[in-house]
Amino acid sequence: MIWTNWARTVSVTPVRLEQPASEDELSDAVRRAVREGHQVRVVGGGHSFAPAAATEGVQLNLDRLDALHRVERDPDTGHALVTVGAGMRLRRLNRILAERGLGMQNLGDIDRQSVAGAISTGTHGTGARFGGLATQVRALTVVGPDGEVARATPTERHDLFEASRLGLGATGVLSTVTIEAVPAFDLYAVEEPWPLDRILECVHDLVADNDHFEFLWFPATHRALTMRNMRVEPEQHSGSSIGRRGRRLAGAARTFLDEEVLSNGLFEVTNRIATAFPATTPALGELATRALTARRYTAPAHEVFCTNRRVRFREMEYAIPRATVVEVLRELAAWRRSSGENIPFPVEVRFAPADDVWLSTAYGRETAYIAAQQYWRLPHARYFDAAERIFTAVGGRPHWGKMHTRDVEYLAGQYRRLPDFQRTRAAADPDGVFTNPYTQRVLGG
Ligand SMILES: Cc1cc2nc3c(=O)[nH]c(=O)nc-3n(C[C@H](O)[C@H](O)[C@H](O)COP(=O)(O)OP(=O)(O)OC[C@H]3O[C@@H](n4cnc5c(N)ncnc54)[C@H](O)[C@@H]3O)c2cc1C
Repeated sequence: MIWTNWARTVSVTPVRLEQPASEDELSDAVRRAVREGHQVRVVGGGHSFAPAAATEGVQLNLDRLDALHRVERDPDTGHALVTVGAGMRLRRLNRILAERGLGMQNLGDIDRQSVAGAISTGTHGTGARFGGLATQVRALTVVGPDGEVARATPTERHDLFEASRLGLGATGVLSTVTIEAVPAFDLYAVEEPWPLDRILECVHDLVADNDHFEFLWFPATHRALTMRNMRVEPEQHSGSSIGRRGRRLAGAARTFLDEEVLSNGLFEVTNRIATAFPATTPALGELATRALTARRYTAPAHEVFCTNRRVRFREMEYAIPRATVVEVLRELAAWRRSSGENIPFPVEVRFAPADDVWLSTAYGRETAYIAAQQYWRLPHARYFDAAERIFTAVGGRPHWGKMHTRDVEYLAGQYRRLPDFQRTRAAADPDGVFTNPYTQRVLGG
């Protein structure tokens, strides 16, 4: 059986794939693999661009461990704590939360990932006050190499909790995850094409003034699509002029942006044209941004955060100190101009607050994320090499689930808590059962 990830950047042949249907079966599967001398890796949705889930040992998939276990109130804060099977996909989690008047504090831009896969690579969305998914985790259960299940929280096995809520599955297999949910909210979304220079002149104000700000810059052009989302009470706009009409329009607006600009039909066609006729790329980028007129609408948060991305692409994303975002983008633009590289896909720029998750790409610093994306039929190596040079010159940290060439020596200079992570991991998995070549490269051991 050959396993291939979504982006078609990794393919590997595991000795077998197992899909346990209970925690006991999961423990047995780990014990069996260890007895037979195999390494173990879990694959979630296979949406990492990096070979994070790859193994030639036993591959586990937890799609059948996707139950809602419980919803309870944190006795101290009163917040909702939602415990789910670690294999649950975000799409199902969002639906379950919505049915209970709850939602995730923040999300990335798709919902195909598993909960465990998403947190394990530091999946994030955008917003100066709202951290990535791992910051929303309050407890975990982890199956170790002996098949034993350990519960870890900020107060109980603290180090295991820190190393497991974002740790590429290197401490063990996550079997359940407890998320702190928030009351459901809507997003009032404003989407507008802007010249890149106009964004760069006031980018820090845009980040500060909007709950969730991001933009997609088409690097063969000077134009970008801006997305400004404000959190509002559900239905708050229903009586106003954008009101129900805005709500009804939401579907149409998202369809245009998702289905035509980024996801499917037209975007696939424009990328194919740009691949065959590189000289058309700037005009096609202009078309993509100009075709979108300003739109405003309100919709449930998860429907606004998450889109469909069906046009296949390759991606490198770095977290950089937020203060450097303008110089970094100007440098990337200068490289694109001088190289003439054919890049029909947009550069996605997002933001996050500093957090305290040991291996979070936003650990201890206000962050901007810059994602270089390339259509999968076009070469990406020269583009990503140049982008990586620019990102690492300002101390960039690569997304753990995306393409990059960094190793543990570089990353040790970026993550103050890496030694704590390594010590915790060595205690949890002394024989390296849960390793693969990628974890060895980026985490050592
Ligand atoms: C189209 C697309 C859009 C994306 N958008 C975003 C975005 O907006 N923001 C962002 O930050 N990232 C984004 N990503 C990256 C994606 O969120 C991450 O790569 C994420 O890890 C994928 O989740 P997955 O369930 O597919 O995990 P996989 O890729 O299958 O696995 C990721 C890692 O988690 C480990 N793992 C999985 N399950 C378990 C478990 N139960 N226990 C222990 N370890 C486990 C795996 O071993 C592996 O190391 C995107 C990727 C794609 C392809």
